[in-house]
Amino acid sequence: MSDCIFCKIVNGGIPCSKVYEDEDILAFNDIAPARPVHVLVIPKKHISSLMTATPEDAPVFGKMLAKANEIAASQGSSDGFRVIINNGRVGGQEVPHLHMHIVGGPDPVGPMLKKL
Ligand code: 5GP
Ligand code: ZN
Repeated sequence: MSDCIFCKIVNGGIPCSKVYEDEDILAFNDIAPARPVHVLVIPKKHISSLMTATPEDAPVFGKMLAKANEIAASQGSSDGFRVIINNGRVGGQEVPHLHMHIVGGPDPVGPMLKKL
């Protein structure tokens, strides 16, 4: 999609700090890291969110998950990490190109959510 910032990163129109790339996925450091390790993993194909995903997207999602440990360890989170995918308004998604956050570092990332 021409007006999508993550598609522009895939196409090289916007620079990124690349961590991993293959024919299907790209991983790069988050511009505003929330933890010492904060990588975004995206499908190269524009998929808006899990709200619009189809069964045909399953292989690329599987690859994103299967590569997560290697990516996390390569950035210094070798003793565990957290993956997060925000979806839509309720999920707090800001960039409408599906992305998996990998957050971690040397120390535990802390509680997942505060209770209401
Ligand atoms: P969301 O809230 O949509 O799950 O997360 C969007 C993430 O993208 C945020 O953590 C934000 O810091 C990151 N981000 C937004 N624009 C850019 C950019 O141009 N480059 C990089 N590397 N990260 C970005
Ligand atoms: Zn896109």
